[in-house]
Amino acid sequence: MAKIAAKTVFKTILLTSGWAKNIAVEVDDGGIISNISVGETGGIDGIAIPGIANAHSHAFQRAFAGKTEKRGKDGDDFWAWRKVMYSALKDVGPEELRAIAAQLYVEMLKSGYTGVAEFHYLHHQADGTPYENRTAMSDALITAATDTGIDFTLLPVLYMRGDFGEAGVDDDQRPFTNSPDDYSALLQMLQGKCQIGVALHSLRAVPEEIVREINSVSAGGPIHIHIAEQVREVNHCFETHGKRPVEWLLENADVNAAWNLVHATHINADEVAGIAESGATVVLCPTTEANLGDGIFPLENFLKAGGRYAIGSDSHVSVDPREELRLLEYGQRLTLKRRAIAGENPGATLWQGALGAAAMGDALDGIQVGARANIVVLDENSPAIAGCKGDEFLDALVFAGQPSPVRDVMAGGVWRVKDYHHPGEDAIKAAYLSTFNKL
Ligand SMILES: [Zn+2]
Repeated sequence: MAKIAAKTVFKTILLTSGWAKNIAVEVDDGGIISNISVGETGGIDGIAIPGIANAHSHAFQRAFAGKTEKRGKDGDDFWAWRKVMYSALKDVGPEELRAIAAQLYVEMLKSGYTGVAEFHYLHHQADGTPYENRTAMSDALITAATDTGIDFTLLPVLYMRGDFGEAGVDDDQRPFTNSPDDYSALLQMLQGKCQIGVALHSLRAVPEEIVREINSVSAGGPIHIHIAEQVREVNHCFETHGKRPVEWLLENADVNAAWNLVHATHINADEVAGIAESGATVVLCPTTEANLGDGIFPLENFLKAGGRYAIGSDSHVSVDPREELRLLEYGQRLTLKRRAIAGENPGATLWQGALGAAAMGDALDGIQVGARANIVVLDENSPAIAGCKGDEFLDALVFAGQPSPVRDVMAGGVWRVKDYHHPGEDAIKAAYLSTFNKL
């Protein structure tokens, strides 16, 4: 049983209140920071910063990341990629999913992600037949999270139809589907196994009345939904409802701070203002959005409106918060032809803005009393950050942090990565490779 680091002293640390020296952080048995005190000696070397949540993950896609980069004879886009992804997942059962997820979660921890919100829709066997144990695939993910020690929130996904106005799904979508009753039963069976939220796959995949009522199902936990990722989806929504997806959602659902809108790429000025006002988090996945040719989120206007955001690695073409945040800022620079869009110190602004507690269903972000003890320690002797001070550490980390200076990682009060090494990484990699070779 991994041990909670009851009290750790840090020489240099970024608290929610700002940079500080010689700080002791105490953690309770539940992995929550219970006390922070100043004036301590004997602290560990390095630059301690808050860990970041990976707010959008489909673990099984890790096995196919980078392996779908071939243009077909009719060209390639999101929908062509989705076809390939569907055909690849037919051999992924609970055992395979567990091995893939464990490899992925080790990679996340080593890169500075201390938690993951798993948007889980691969519930059944390839032909749609449920496993005898209906939580088998969820259990595989929970076991991978427990084995690696990453903070974990499971978001079982409701998926009921192929597109707006359709009654059912295509054959290759059968592994994803549940009736509302089966979905409620699944949530019930998962209670107590881990932190859980709810997720609707997208507006196209669930009937409208479900979207309107989802707050009553979520029991106060986080609510996630893919939305406005693709222009075709925006157009279908408009043809069906006479409204754009985010516009429709804001008018028809009780969107509040529990909501997490994944992508929200294609939004106009009213939708930017509406999301910001609702308190919902937008979950941006810049490397996946770039890989799939989705488009560019209007970050500058969203930040001006006071909008909240988190990041996710989604399809896992990158598993590294530095790359997500760098690409997020670079997309803006390339579009607007200016620099430092996110803030005066854009790396520091983005890292601290994207911590993602709300997406996980946690109360507080950052290193403060009451928050999860999720702490990343950067190696101050790494060339990537040498000579920096204060916020410059985060700017250098995000924009030029290679090789990665992420040296130690604490998740939920337990050191999971020490000196660039996760204790389970060799065995987990071996299991992943043997699984992968069978797929
Ligand atoms: Zn996704």
